[in-house]
Amino acid sequence: MKTKLGLLYGGKSAEHNVSLQTAKAVTAAINLNKFDVYPVYISLDGTWTEGEKLEAPAKTVEELKLTGNGGTEHVLSMLAQNKYDVVFPLLHGPNGEDGTVQGLLEVLNVPYVGNGVLASSAGMDKIIMKSVFAQAGLKQVNYTHMTRAKWEQNKEEACITIEEEIGWPCFVKPANLGSSVGISKCQSRDQLTSAMEEAFQFDRKVIIEEGVTAREIEVGILGNDEPECSVIGEILPKKDFYDYKAKYEDGDTALIIPADITEAQQKEMKELAIRAYQSLDCSGLVRADFFLTENGDFLINEVNTMPGFTPFSMFPLLWKEAGVEYPELIEKMVELGIERHAEKQ
Ligand code: ATP
Ligand code: MG
Ligand code: MG
Ligand code: MG
Repeated sequence: MKTKLGLLYGGKSAEHNVSLQTAKAVTAAINLNKFDVYPVYISLDGTWTEGEKLEAPAKTVEELKLTGNGGTEHVLSMLAQNKYDVVFPLLHGPNGEDGTVQGLLEVLNVPYVGNGVLASSAGMDKIIMKSVFAQAGLKQVNYTHMTRAKWEQNKEEACITIEEEIGWPCFVKPANLGSSVGISKCQSRDQLTSAMEEAFQFDRKVIIEEGVTAREIEVGILGNDEPECSVIGEILPKKDFYDYKAKYEDGDTALIIPADITEAQQKEMKELAIRAYQSLDCSGLVRADFFLTENGDFLINEVNTMPGFTPFSMFPLLWKEAGVEYPELIEKMVELGIERHAEKQ
């Protein structure tokens, strides 16, 4: 018997297009002898549309932008009637990677791939995530945060406070997002002002971090109660930092796998990554991102509960190096989702 899999992609999120690219790759790799795949597209305005059972890989991203077919109401009733044995929320950013869709699936009692509600929402909010990491004793960059309301009250005063607390250079980020959308590096008060305005386009909360000069080292984790780490990799952005263009458009960022670090450093980083995983109660998978500073400290930057997932993204490449090919990785993630659901019952 084949597993009926509902593949959710797109999403009401600034990372919509990233999800579409990933979905295209997954339709090309997933083993159709094992899975009956039902594509479910979530448009940018949040309408859900179910497509016909997948017969062949999507040739273009446009082909995946489904319309009609009863819309959201239809998909919700399919979910409630347990049409799918398991759902794969291949969604990045708010309204998908942040626990909202996971909550819907919990309520409807549908097994799903990836992190649960708590880890997804805590992992999406960089401010909450950092408090949890601090509590777990993980080292991080110095940071502060601000609401839009506070910013609007007195922008000049806000900039002075940030300069005093964090200094230059600093990174300004929407609290809830990914793919570097809305992130800027600032060297002056003028840049800070426009960076804050930009970040508030995406969120009502913004985080401001001390900019560090460090290597960027990442590791994949898979598992539920007994998580395991992949090989460790390094990102070498050709530009100032790893921004949206470097991630998805220029394609000239070097991914070094395995990263050239000592065995002792690998061991240390894997322990820290597992600690981060367990502190947020993660399950299924994450990609944990660290800064390795010049004096040898591993500072955790973040975890991504649904990391970039094309065959050329860091997470699948790290597992490939560890001996897990892309189609097998998809199957493992599905199995872990089903296992977690069964254990909860
Ligand atoms: P994704 O979810 O795609 O991994 P994101 O949007 O959550 O990305 P971050 O990973 O926090 O964003 O930051 C994006 C990039 O910006 C980092 O990979 C790094 O190149 C740079 N960066 C972020 N914060 C800092 C910092 N405090 N110091 C130096 N560089 C930073
Ligand atoms: Mg992220
Ligand atoms: Mg992300
Ligand atoms: Mg990141």
